[in-house]
Amino acid sequence: TKTNDRLSTFLDSGIYRFESSNAVFIDPVRMLNSSYARFRVSPSTYYSRFFDPKRADQGRDETKLPSSSKKRKRKVKRSHSLNERERAADQRHVQVRPMLMKALEFLMAATDLLAIMRDLRSDFCSSQRREVPLPGSEQSFIELGRIWQAPLYEITLKFPHHHEPSKDADTLPDQCSWRRILPVFNNLVVNETCDDVEAEFLNGKYVLPRQSCFYMSDLGQIRNLIPDESDCGFNLIVVDPPWENASASQKLLYPTLPNRYFLSLPIKQLTHTDGALVALWVTNREKLRDFVEKELFPTWGVNYAASFYWLKVKADGSLITDLDLFHHRPYECLLLGYCRREGTNSEQMSSWRAIEHNEIIISIPGDYSRKPPIGELLLEHVPGPKPVRCIELFAREMIGGWTSWGNEPLRFQGLNYFIER
Ligand code: SAM
Repeated sequence: TKTNDRLSTFLDSGIYRFESSNAVFIDPVRMLNSSYARFRVSPSTYYSRFFDPKRADQGRDETKLPSSSKKRKRKVKRSHSLNERERAADQRHVQVRPMLMKALEFLMAATDLLAIMRDLRSDFCSSQRREVPLPGSEQSFIELGRIWQAPLYEITLKFPHHHEPSKDADTLPDQCSWRRILPVFNNLVVNETCDDVEAEFLNGKYVLPRQSCFYMSDLGQIRNLIPDESDCGFNLIVVDPPWENASASQKLLYPTLPNRYFLSLPIKQLTHTDGALVALWVTNREKLRDFVEKELFPTWGVNYAASFYWLKVKADGSLITDLDLFHHRPYECLLLGYCRREGTNSEQMSSWRAIEHNEIIISIPGDYSRKPPIGELLLEHVPGPKPVRCIELFAREMIGGWTSWGNEPLRFQGLNYFIER
């Protein structure tokens, strides 16, 4: 039956498309797994909150975060005196609300999927679990990258013995593997093989997915990623900037940057001759939306095309917060636009406008405010040749076939986030 098909597709790919709907439920763990051969992502280290049965079994109203009742009261008071921006934000919310509710109804009706969702965090073979270090005991790439010794730090890639990597002078045969030692900062570190590669840096172990690379640096060095020839540029550019944010918890997670810094991102120079789809994560602040529409996209040379929404649910399918909480919406927005180079031919460009607006991506949020991997959901809208050339800016993880840039692209590549198959 169709339902069974959808379910088995989901178990394979992590993608569940609701019939005749613009909504899709995804399991980021299953989606990331397609990048690895010898490892799989450990669900229990990917997911953390939102699986607590005590929280999940209670009604939605009781499961709000502790401070939210106060915020709610504030919201009610404010509603009489919303300023212009707040009114605009509210207007936006009122417009997307019915679609989000509809998507949620689809999810609630998919009882087969709901039954599986409760177990998405389970690692199955728990005996193979690695020790999970306490938060904070992990390497801080951001801090190491800033000190004067940064250029001296090296990473060792250990290619499996059956894989002789391209014969560079810097690849040395070892007893059962090939080793390559490379500077870890301000350098493009590449796994060009079709297999996962283990890597060592200081006393940590990492996994690099097949055909992936990372460049770990500060924003100041991003220009080193601009290709010499534009036909070596990228067709899909995903950007999740460290927007300044009032939330203190966000500040603890990573440093943020004022908006003007993002104007200097060389989006056009990174774009492939045939054009690129640019996907930008934004927060729900109206001031930021204004900045992106009026300044950032025009400066980058990006034409707005559509908005996708990421709707966040708990393991029981209920929303993580009340849909109408003003400052804690249970959804985030992904703005899509197209960037073209001077040479991009206009016939191709005419097909670019066809993105159906407002796709809704539902998932259970990962730990450390990780965004779900949305690349695969965007592929049908990406211009240019296949395989698609993809880059993620401000990345904290790597994906097979992608280039990851940021000041901590190895953040979630530690061996402790994986289980050996
Ligand atoms: N998309 C990522 C995920 O889902 O895990 C989250 C990205 S987070 C919003 C922004 C990232 O930008 C953080 O990893 C932060 O450390 C990094 N960042 C902040 N300032 C930076 C800078 N000056 N240069 C490079 N990266 C920076």
